[in-house]
Amino acid sequence: MRFPKHWLLCACLFVVPGARAQVSAVQEAIFAGAKADKSAHEFLTRLCDDFGGRLTGSPGNRAALDRTLAELKAMGVDAHLENFRMPGWVRGRDEVMMLAPVNRPLRVASLSYTQAQRKFEADVVNIGDGREQDFAGLDAKGKIGLLAPNTTVARGQYEEAAVKHGVRGILFIDRVAGGQLLARTGSFTGAPLRIPVYSITQEEGNWMARLLKRGEKVRVSMLTRSHCEETGTSNIVATFPGRTPDLLVVGAHFDSWDLGQGAMDNGVGTAQLYLLAKLLQAHAPRNLRTVQLVWFNGEEQGLWGSSIHAHALKHEPVAAMINLDMVGFPLSVNSLGYDDLLPSLEAYNASLGGQKLKQGVGNINWFGSDHTPFQLEGVRAITFGGLIPPESVRYYHDFADTIDKVDPRMIPESTAAIAALVYRLANEPGLTTVRLAPQETEALFRKYALETRMKGVGIWPFAESNVPPKKP
Ligand SMILES: [Zn+2]
Repeated sequence: MRFPKHWLLCACLFVVPGARAQVSAVQEAIFAGAKADKSAHEFLTRLCDDFGGRLTGSPGNRAALDRTLAELKAMGVDAHLENFRMPGWVRGRDEVMMLAPVNRPLRVASLSYTQAQRKFEADVVNIGDGREQDFAGLDAKGKIGLLAPNTTVARGQYEEAAVKHGVRGILFIDRVAGGQLLARTGSFTGAPLRIPVYSITQEEGNWMARLLKRGEKVRVSMLTRSHCEETGTSNIVATFPGRTPDLLVVGAHFDSWDLGQGAMDNGVGTAQLYLLAKLLQAHAPRNLRTVQLVWFNGEEQGLWGSSIHAHALKHEPVAAMINLDMVGFPLSVNSLGYDDLLPSLEAYNASLGGQKLKQGVGNINWFGSDHTPFQLEGVRAITFGGLIPPESVRYYHDFADTIDKVDPRMIPESTAAIAALVYRLANEPGLTTVRLAPQETEALFRKYALETRMKGVGIWPFAESNVPPKKP
Protein backbone atom coordinates (compact mmCIF):
# COMPACT_ATOMS: atom_id res chain seq x y z
CA MET A 1 0.00 0.00 0.00
CA ARG A 2 0.95 3.60 -0.29
CA PHE A 3 2.53 5.91 2.18
CA PRO A 4 4.94 7.31 4.48
CA LYS A 5 6.88 9.39 1.97
CA HIS A 6 4.66 12.34 2.32
CA TRP A 7 3.18 11.86 5.71
CA LEU A 8 6.41 13.13 7.18
CA LEU A 9 5.88 16.33 5.26
CA CYS A 10 2.26 16.38 6.30
CA ALA A 11 3.07 15.84 9.90
CA CYS A 12 5.35 18.87 9.65
CA LEU A 13 2.59 20.99 8.20
CA PHE A 14 0.34 19.82 10.96
CA VAL A 15 2.69 21.04 13.64
CA VAL A 16 3.08 24.62 12.42
CA PRO A 17 3.04 26.17 15.90
CA GLY A 18 0.08 28.58 15.53
CA ALA A 19 -2.04 26.04 13.70
CA ARG A 20 -1.20 23.35 16.20
CA ALA A 21 -2.16 25.53 19.11
CA GLN A 22 -5.47 26.34 17.47
CA VAL A 23 -6.18 22.73 16.57
CA SER A 24 -5.37 21.48 20.03
CA ALA A 25 -7.44 24.22 21.69
CA VAL A 26 -10.51 23.27 19.66
CA GLN A 27 -9.81 19.58 20.19
CA GLU A 28 -9.65 20.17 23.93
CA ALA A 29 -12.88 22.14 23.91
CA ILE A 30 -14.61 19.34 22.00
CA PHE A 31 -13.17 16.71 24.33
CA ALA A 32 -14.26 18.57 27.45
CA GLY A 33 -17.65 19.40 25.92
CA ALA A 34 -18.34 15.72 25.24
CA LYS A 35 -17.35 14.64 28.74
CA ALA A 36 -19.70 17.15 30.34
CA ASP A 37 -22.67 16.35 28.10
CA LYS A 38 -25.70 14.52 29.46
CA SER A 39 -28.06 15.35 26.61
CA ALA A 40 -27.02 12.51 24.28
CA HIS A 41 -27.70 9.87 26.91
CA GLU A 42 -31.06 11.54 27.58
CA PHE A 43 -31.79 11.62 23.85
CA LEU A 44 -31.08 7.89 23.62
CA THR A 45 -33.25 7.18 26.68
CA ARG A 46 -36.20 8.92 25.05
CA LEU A 47 -35.57 7.18 21.73
CA CYS A 48 -35.52 3.76 23.42
CA ASP A 49 -38.47 4.33 25.73
CA ASP A 50 -40.71 6.09 23.21
CA PHE A 51 -40.18 3.79 20.23
CA GLY A 52 -38.73 0.47 21.45
CA GLY A 53 -36.59 -1.47 18.97
CA ARG A 54 -35.79 0.07 15.60
CA LEU A 55 -36.11 -2.83 13.20
CA THR A 56 -35.68 -1.42 9.70
CA GLY A 57 -39.02 -0.82 8.03
CA SER A 58 -40.98 -0.90 11.31
CA PRO A 59 -43.18 1.99 12.49
CA GLY A 60 -40.87 2.42 15.50
CA ASN A 61 -37.85 2.83 13.25
CA ARG A 62 -39.62 5.47 11.14
CA ALA A 63 -40.85 7.42 14.16
CA ALA A 64 -37.36 7.33 15.69
CA LEU A 65 -35.86 8.55 12.40
CA ASP A 66 -38.29 11.46 12.29
CA ARG A 67 -37.50 12.36 15.90
CA THR A 68 -33.75 12.26 15.30
CA LEU A 69 -33.96 14.34 12.13
CA ALA A 70 -36.14 16.92 13.88
CA GLU A 71 -33.71 17.18 16.80
CA LEU A 72 -30.76 17.66 14.46
CA LYS A 73 -32.57 20.38 12.58
CA ALA A 74 -33.49 22.05 15.86
CA MET A 75 -29.75 22.18 16.64
CA GLY A 76 -29.25 24.02 13.35
CA VAL A 77 -27.53 21.06 11.71
CA ASP A 78 -27.90 20.60 7.94
CA ALA A 79 -29.48 17.13 7.91
CA HIS A 80 -31.64 15.24 5.44
CA LEU A 81 -33.06 11.79 4.78
CA GLU A 82 -31.43 9.56 2.16
CA ASN A 83 -34.30 7.32 1.07
CA PHE A 84 -33.84 3.85 -0.34
CA ARG A 85 -35.63 0.54 -0.79
CA MET A 86 -34.41 -2.82 0.43
CA PRO A 87 -35.68 -6.33 1.03
CA GLY A 88 -37.53 -5.94 4.31
CA TRP A 89 -38.83 -8.42 6.83
CA VAL A 90 -41.70 -8.32 9.30
CA ARG A 91 -41.70 -10.43 12.45
CA GLY A 92 -45.04 -12.12 13.01
CA ARG A 93 -46.36 -14.04 16.00
CA ASP A 94 -44.48 -17.25 15.31
CA GLU A 95 -45.35 -20.33 17.36
CA VAL A 96 -42.91 -23.13 17.99
CA MET A 97 -44.08 -25.85 20.39
CA MET A 98 -42.40 -28.86 21.88
CA LEU A 99 -44.90 -31.70 21.51
CA ALA A 100 -42.82 -34.60 22.88
CA PRO A 101 -41.64 -35.53 25.39
CA VAL A 102 -43.28 -32.47 26.97
CA ASN A 103 -45.95 -30.22 25.61
CA ARG A 104 -44.94 -26.57 25.93
CA PRO A 105 -44.16 -23.48 23.87
CA LEU A 106 -40.47 -22.96 23.13
CA ARG A 107 -38.79 -19.60 23.47
CA VAL A 108 -37.65 -18.77 19.92
CA ALA A 109 -36.99 -15.87 17.54
CA SER A 110 -37.04 -16.38 13.80
CA LEU A 111 -34.03 -15.14 11.86
CA SER A 112 -34.81 -12.30 9.48
CA TYR A 113 -35.94 -13.28 5.98
CA THR A 114 -37.63 -16.37 7.43
CA GLN A 115 -40.80 -16.76 5.39
CA ALA A 116 -44.33 -17.43 6.57
CA GLN A 117 -45.28 -21.08 6.48
CA ARG A 118 -48.27 -23.19 7.40
CA LYS A 119 -48.07 -25.12 10.66
CA PHE A 120 -46.32 -28.47 10.53
CA GLU A 121 -44.90 -30.91 13.05
CA ALA A 122 -41.81 -33.06 12.79
CA ASP A 123 -39.24 -35.00 14.77
CA VAL A 124 -36.05 -33.20 15.71
CA VAL A 125 -32.65 -34.44 14.58
CA ASN A 126 -29.24 -33.14 15.63
CA ILE A 127 -27.46 -31.64 12.60
CA GLY A 128 -24.32 -30.63 14.53
CA ASP A 129 -22.55 -27.71 12.88
CA GLY A 130 -24.65 -27.95 9.73
CA ARG A 131 -21.74 -29.07 7.55
CA GLU A 132 -22.21 -31.53 4.73
CA GLN A 133 -20.41 -34.22 6.77
CA ASP A 134 -22.79 -33.71 9.71
CA PHE A 135 -25.55 -35.19 7.54
CA ALA A 136 -23.61 -38.36 6.72
CA GLY A 137 -25.62 -41.40 7.86
CA LEU A 138 -28.38 -39.16 9.23
CA ASP A 139 -32.01 -39.55 8.27
CA ALA A 140 -32.92 -35.88 8.24
CA LYS A 141 -35.63 -35.91 5.60
CA GLY A 142 -38.82 -34.18 6.74
CA LYS A 143 -37.32 -33.40 10.15
CA ILE A 144 -36.37 -30.29 12.10
CA GLY A 145 -32.62 -29.82 12.49
CA LEU A 146 -31.03 -28.81 15.79
CA LEU A 147 -27.97 -26.65 15.02
CA ALA A 148 -25.01 -26.33 17.43
CA PRO A 149 -24.44 -22.99 19.20
CA ASN A 150 -20.86 -22.46 18.17
CA THR A 151 -21.05 -23.47 14.54
CA THR A 152 -18.68 -21.55 12.32
CA VAL A 153 -20.59 -22.53 9.21
CA ALA A 154 -21.82 -19.38 7.51
CA ARG A 155 -25.48 -18.45 7.30
CA GLY A 156 -26.75 -19.74 4.03
CA GLN A 157 -24.39 -22.69 4.00
CA TYR A 158 -26.02 -24.64 6.83
CA GLU A 159 -29.37 -23.77 5.28
CA GLU A 160 -28.23 -25.08 1.91
CA ALA A 161 -26.96 -28.34 3.40
CA ALA A 162 -30.17 -28.74 5.42
CA VAL A 163 -32.43 -28.13 2.43
CA LYS A 164 -30.40 -30.57 0.35
CA HIS A 165 -31.01 -33.27 2.96
CA GLY A 166 -34.73 -32.58 3.21
CA VAL A 167 -34.74 -30.73 6.55
CA ARG A 168 -37.94 -28.67 7.01
CA GLY A 169 -36.85 -26.22 9.68
CA ILE A 170 -33.86 -25.33 11.87
CA LEU A 171 -33.54 -24.58 15.58
CA PHE A 172 -30.25 -22.74 16.10
CA ILE A 173 -29.10 -23.05 19.74
CA ASP A 174 -28.00 -19.76 21.31
CA ARG A 175 -24.39 -19.39 22.39
CA VAL A 176 -25.22 -17.54 25.61
CA ALA A 177 -27.03 -19.22 28.50
CA GLY A 178 -29.81 -17.72 30.58
CA GLY A 179 -32.86 -18.03 28.36
CA GLN A 180 -31.34 -15.76 25.81
CA LEU A 181 -32.11 -15.52 22.10
CA LEU A 182 -30.00 -13.98 19.38
CA ALA A 183 -32.01 -12.17 16.77
CA ARG A 184 -29.97 -12.02 13.60
CA THR A 185 -30.23 -12.00 9.88
CA GLY A 186 -30.66 -15.28 8.09
CA SER A 187 -29.42 -13.86 4.82
CA PHE A 188 -27.11 -10.97 3.92
CA THR A 189 -28.55 -10.91 0.41
CA GLY A 190 -32.16 -10.44 1.49
CA ALA A 191 -33.20 -13.65 -0.24
CA PRO A 192 -36.10 -15.31 1.61
CA LEU A 193 -34.95 -18.36 3.56
CA ARG A 194 -36.07 -21.63 2.02
CA ILE A 195 -36.93 -23.16 5.40
CA PRO A 196 -37.75 -21.43 8.70
CA VAL A 197 -34.70 -20.84 10.89
CA TYR A 198 -35.15 -20.02 14.57
CA SER A 199 -32.82 -18.96 17.34
CA ILE A 200 -33.65 -21.10 20.40
CA THR A 201 -32.42 -20.74 23.97
CA GLN A 202 -29.36 -22.70 25.01
CA GLU A 203 -31.32 -24.35 27.82
CA GLU A 204 -34.14 -25.68 25.62
CA GLY A 205 -31.74 -26.52 22.79
CA ASN A 206 -29.38 -28.48 25.04
CA TRP A 207 -32.36 -30.23 26.62
CA MET A 208 -33.35 -31.52 23.19
CA ALA A 209 -29.74 -32.45 22.37
CA ARG A 210 -29.50 -34.57 25.54
CA LEU A 211 -32.72 -36.41 24.72
CA LEU A 212 -31.60 -37.07 21.15
CA LYS A 213 -28.29 -38.41 22.40
CA ARG A 214 -30.19 -40.97 24.49
CA GLY A 215 -32.22 -41.93 21.43
CA GLU A 216 -35.41 -40.34 22.76
CA LYS A 217 -37.98 -38.84 20.45
CA VAL A 218 -38.28 -35.05 20.35
CA ARG A 219 -41.20 -33.67 18.38
CA VAL A 220 -41.83 -30.02 17.60
CA SER A 221 -44.44 -28.00 15.68
CA MET A 222 -43.67 -24.77 13.80
CA LEU A 223 -46.07 -22.07 12.69
CA THR A 224 -44.28 -19.16 11.03
CA ARG A 225 -46.09 -15.89 10.54
CA SER A 226 -43.00 -13.71 9.96
CA HIS A 227 -42.58 -12.75 6.33
CA CYS A 228 -40.46 -10.93 3.80
CA GLU A 229 -41.76 -7.66 2.38
CA GLU A 230 -39.84 -5.02 0.45
CA THR A 231 -39.55 -1.83 2.45
CA GLY A 232 -38.76 1.83 1.95
CA THR A 233 -36.47 3.30 4.58
CA SER A 234 -33.87 6.04 5.03
CA ASN A 235 -30.45 6.95 6.29
CA ILE A 236 -29.99 10.32 7.95
CA VAL A 237 -27.13 12.41 6.54
CA ALA A 238 -25.84 15.48 8.39
CA THR A 239 -23.28 17.57 6.53
CA PHE A 240 -20.73 20.05 7.83
CA PRO A 241 -19.30 21.61 4.65
CA GLY A 242 -15.54 21.94 4.62
CA ARG A 243 -13.09 24.22 2.85
CA THR A 244 -12.24 21.42 0.40
CA PRO A 245 -14.43 18.81 -1.31
CA ASP A 246 -12.64 16.00 0.54
CA LEU A 247 -14.95 14.04 2.78
CA LEU A 248 -14.63 12.42 6.16
CA VAL A 249 -17.58 10.09 6.75
CA VAL A 250 -18.56 9.07 10.28
CA GLY A 251 -21.29 6.48 10.45
CA ALA A 252 -23.28 4.41 12.93
CA HIS A 253 -26.19 2.11 12.35
CA PHE A 254 -29.48 3.46 13.51
CA ASP A 255 -31.52 0.30 13.16
CA SER A 256 -31.63 -2.45 15.74
CA TRP A 257 -33.38 -5.73 16.38
CA ASP A 258 -36.93 -5.60 17.54
CA LEU A 259 -36.91 -7.79 20.66
CA GLY A 260 -35.44 -5.14 22.96
CA GLN A 261 -34.75 -1.42 22.54
CA GLY A 262 -31.49 -1.57 20.61
CA ALA A 263 -29.89 0.57 23.31
CA MET A 264 -26.41 -0.95 23.11
CA ASP A 265 -26.69 -2.17 19.53
CA ASN A 266 -26.58 0.44 18.26
CA GLY A 267 -28.33 3.12 20.24
CA VAL A 268 -24.92 3.94 21.66
CA GLY A 269 -23.55 4.72 18.17
CA THR A 270 -26.72 6.63 17.31
CA ALA A 271 -26.25 8.81 20.39
CA GLN A 272 -22.50 9.23 19.78
CA LEU A 273 -23.25 10.64 16.31
CA TYR A 274 -25.94 12.87 17.82
CA LEU A 275 -23.42 14.26 20.30
CA LEU A 276 -20.80 14.62 17.57
CA ALA A 277 -23.26 16.72 15.57
CA LYS A 278 -23.86 18.91 18.59
CA LEU A 279 -20.14 19.33 19.31
CA LEU A 280 -19.19 20.11 15.71
CA GLN A 281 -22.01 22.61 15.46
CA ALA A 282 -20.82 24.33 18.64
CA HIS A 283 -17.03 24.17 18.22
CA ALA A 284 -16.05 23.30 14.65
CA PRO A 285 -18.84 23.71 12.10
CA ARG A 286 -16.34 24.36 9.31
CA ASN A 287 -13.23 22.25 8.88
CA LEU A 288 -10.70 21.54 6.20
CA ARG A 289 -12.68 18.51 5.03
CA THR A 290 -16.41 18.16 4.73
CA VAL A 291 -17.64 16.02 7.58
CA GLN A 292 -20.60 13.80 6.89
CA LEU A 293 -22.36 12.08 9.78
CA VAL A 294 -24.55 9.21 8.63
CA TRP A 295 -27.08 7.18 10.62
CA PHE A 296 -27.46 4.02 8.56
CA ASN A 297 -30.54 1.87 8.36
CA GLY A 298 -30.74 -1.81 7.41
CA GLU A 299 -27.38 -2.73 8.95
CA GLU A 300 -28.59 -5.69 10.95
CA GLN A 301 -30.31 -7.26 7.97
CA GLY A 302 -27.35 -6.99 5.63
CA LEU A 303 -25.54 -3.61 5.64
CA TRP A 304 -28.12 -2.11 3.28
CA GLY A 305 -27.95 1.60 4.19
CA SER A 306 -24.17 1.76 4.28
CA SER A 307 -23.95 -0.07 0.95
CA ILE A 308 -26.31 2.48 -0.64
CA HIS A 309 -24.37 5.39 0.84
CA ALA A 310 -20.91 4.03 0.02
CA HIS A 311 -22.06 3.45 -3.54
CA ALA A 312 -23.49 6.97 -3.80
CA LEU A 313 -20.04 8.34 -2.83
CA LYS A 314 -18.29 6.18 -5.42
CA HIS A 315 -16.84 9.14 -7.29
CA GLU A 316 -16.35 11.46 -4.30
CA PRO A 317 -13.00 12.03 -2.62
CA VAL A 318 -13.42 10.25 0.72
CA ALA A 319 -10.38 10.52 3.00
CA ALA A 320 -11.67 7.89 5.42
CA MET A 321 -14.78 6.40 6.99
CA ILE A 322 -15.11 5.96 10.75
CA ASN A 323 -17.65 3.36 11.87
CA LEU A 324 -19.21 3.40 15.34
CA ASP A 325 -20.90 0.10 16.13
CA MET A 326 -21.28 -0.69 19.84
CA VAL A 327 -18.30 1.39 20.93
CA GLY A 328 -18.46 1.46 24.71
CA PHE A 329 -15.76 2.88 26.99
CA PRO A 330 -13.00 3.43 24.41
CA LEU A 331 -9.99 1.15 24.56
CA SER A 332 -8.38 1.39 21.13
CA VAL A 333 -8.65 2.75 17.64
CA ASN A 334 -8.22 0.37 14.72
CA SER A 335 -6.89 1.18 11.26
CA LEU A 336 -8.29 -2.11 9.83
CA GLY A 337 -5.09 -2.99 8.02
CA TYR A 338 -4.62 0.38 6.31
CA ASP A 339 -1.00 0.89 7.31
CA ASP A 340 -0.92 4.39 5.84
CA LEU A 341 -3.45 5.55 8.46
CA LEU A 342 -1.29 4.44 11.36
CA PRO A 343 0.79 7.62 11.72
CA SER A 344 -2.36 9.77 11.96
CA LEU A 345 -3.90 7.43 14.52
CA GLU A 346 -0.71 7.26 16.58
CA ALA A 347 -0.48 11.06 16.55
CA TYR A 348 -4.12 11.27 17.59
CA ASN A 349 -3.63 8.88 20.49
CA ALA A 350 -0.54 10.79 21.62
CA SER A 351 -2.56 14.01 21.53
CA LEU A 352 -4.94 12.59 24.14
CA GLY A 353 -2.13 12.89 26.70
CA GLY A 354 -3.30 11.54 30.04
CA GLN A 355 -6.53 10.29 28.41
CA LYS A 356 -4.72 8.03 25.93
CA LEU A 357 -6.56 4.91 24.79
CA LYS A 358 -5.46 2.05 27.04
CA GLN A 359 -4.87 -0.37 24.18
CA GLY A 360 -3.58 2.25 21.75
CA VAL A 361 -3.74 1.79 17.99
CA GLY A 362 -4.73 -1.55 16.48
CA ASN A 363 -4.42 -2.65 12.88
CA ILE A 364 -6.69 -5.63 12.27
CA ASN A 365 -9.21 -5.91 9.49
CA TRP A 366 -12.65 -7.36 10.28
CA PHE A 367 -15.94 -7.38 8.43
CA GLY A 368 -19.63 -7.39 9.11
CA SER A 369 -20.58 -3.84 10.03
CA ASP A 370 -21.06 -0.60 8.09
CA HIS A 371 -17.37 -0.02 7.37
CA THR A 372 -17.31 -3.08 5.09
CA PRO A 373 -19.27 -1.60 2.16
CA PHE A 374 -16.98 1.46 2.23
CA GLN A 375 -13.92 -0.75 2.19
CA LEU A 376 -15.37 -2.66 -0.74
CA GLU A 377 -15.60 0.67 -2.59
CA GLY A 378 -11.90 1.26 -1.89
CA VAL A 379 -12.39 3.69 1.00
CA ARG A 380 -10.11 3.34 4.02
CA ALA A 381 -12.04 2.77 7.20
CA ILE A 382 -11.41 3.05 10.93
CA THR A 383 -13.20 1.46 13.89
CA PHE A 384 -12.88 1.81 17.66
CA GLY A 385 -12.46 -0.91 20.22
CA GLY A 386 -14.67 -0.14 23.19
CA LEU A 387 -15.80 -1.89 26.31
CA ILE A 388 -19.42 -2.53 27.12
CA PRO A 389 -19.18 -4.62 30.30
CA PRO A 390 -19.85 -8.34 29.68
CA GLU A 391 -22.79 -8.41 32.10
CA SER A 392 -24.54 -5.91 29.81
CA VAL A 393 -23.27 -6.80 26.37
CA ARG A 394 -24.46 -10.40 26.74
CA TYR A 395 -28.00 -9.13 26.15
CA TYR A 396 -27.39 -7.67 22.72
CA HIS A 397 -29.86 -8.69 19.99
CA ASP A 398 -32.36 -9.77 22.64
CA PHE A 399 -35.14 -8.25 24.73
CA ALA A 400 -32.79 -7.09 27.47
CA ASP A 401 -30.81 -4.76 25.19
CA THR A 402 -32.45 -1.84 26.97
CA ILE A 403 -31.32 1.61 28.06
CA ASP A 404 -30.76 0.53 31.67
CA LYS A 405 -27.71 -1.44 30.40
CA VAL A 406 -26.04 1.76 29.18
CA ASP A 407 -23.91 3.41 31.86
CA PRO A 408 -24.71 7.16 31.65
CA ARG A 409 -20.97 7.87 31.55
CA MET A 410 -20.45 5.73 28.45
CA ILE A 411 -21.69 8.07 25.73
CA PRO A 412 -19.93 11.21 27.06
CA GLU A 413 -16.62 9.36 27.58
CA SER A 414 -16.62 7.51 24.30
CA THR A 415 -17.74 10.51 22.30
CA ALA A 416 -14.91 12.60 23.76
CA ALA A 417 -12.37 10.18 22.27
CA ILE A 418 -14.30 9.76 19.02
CA ALA A 419 -14.90 13.48 18.51
CA ALA A 420 -11.22 14.26 19.07
CA LEU A 421 -10.32 11.88 16.23
CA VAL A 422 -13.04 13.21 13.95
CA TYR A 423 -11.89 16.77 14.50
CA ARG A 424 -8.23 15.90 13.90
CA LEU A 425 -8.86 13.90 10.74
CA ALA A 426 -11.18 16.60 9.46
CA ASN A 427 -8.34 19.09 9.77
CA GLU A 428 -5.10 17.17 9.27
CA PRO A 429 -3.61 18.75 6.15
CA GLY A 430 -1.48 15.78 5.20
CA LEU A 431 -4.16 13.12 5.30
CA THR A 432 -4.25 11.96 1.70
CA THR A 433 -7.44 11.00 -0.04
CA VAL A 434 -6.86 7.69 -1.73
CA ARG A 435 -9.19 5.07 -3.08
CA LEU A 436 -7.74 1.58 -3.19
CA ALA A 437 -7.96 -0.44 -6.37
CA PRO A 438 -10.19 -3.53 -6.07
CA GLN A 439 -7.10 -5.76 -6.16
CA GLU A 440 -5.60 -3.90 -3.19
CA THR A 441 -8.81 -4.20 -1.18
CA GLU A 442 -9.08 -7.87 -2.08
CA ALA A 443 -5.51 -8.42 -0.91
CA LEU A 444 -6.34 -6.71 2.39
CA PHE A 445 -9.27 -9.04 3.06
CA ARG A 446 -7.19 -12.05 2.09
CA LYS A 447 -4.34 -10.93 4.33
CA TYR A 448 -6.68 -11.15 7.33
CA ALA A 449 -8.12 -14.50 6.14
CA LEU A 450 -11.64 -13.10 5.77
CA GLU A 451 -12.33 -14.48 2.32
CA THR A 452 -14.08 -17.72 3.26
CA ARG A 453 -16.39 -16.11 5.79
CA MET A 454 -17.24 -13.24 3.46
CA LYS A 455 -18.02 -15.63 0.64
CA GLY A 456 -20.14 -17.65 3.06
CA VAL A 457 -22.45 -14.70 3.66
CA GLY A 458 -22.39 -13.61 0.04
CA ILE A 459 -20.35 -10.41 0.33
CA TRP A 460 -17.29 -11.16 -1.77
CA PRO A 461 -17.48 -8.96 -4.86
CA PHE A 462 -14.07 -9.84 -6.22
CA ALA A 463 -13.85 -11.91 -9.37
CA GLU A 464 -12.35 -15.36 -9.04
CA SER A 465 -10.06 -14.42 -11.91
CA ASN A 466 -8.26 -12.03 -9.57
CA VAL A 467 -7.01 -14.95 -7.53
CA PRO A 468 -3.30 -15.26 -8.13
CA PRO A 469 -2.53 -18.72 -9.56
CA LYS A 470 -1.40 -21.09 -6.80
CA LYS A 471 2.20 -22.20 -7.04
CA PRO A 472 2.47 -25.96 -7.66
ZN1 LIG B 1 -24.54 -3.40 15.57
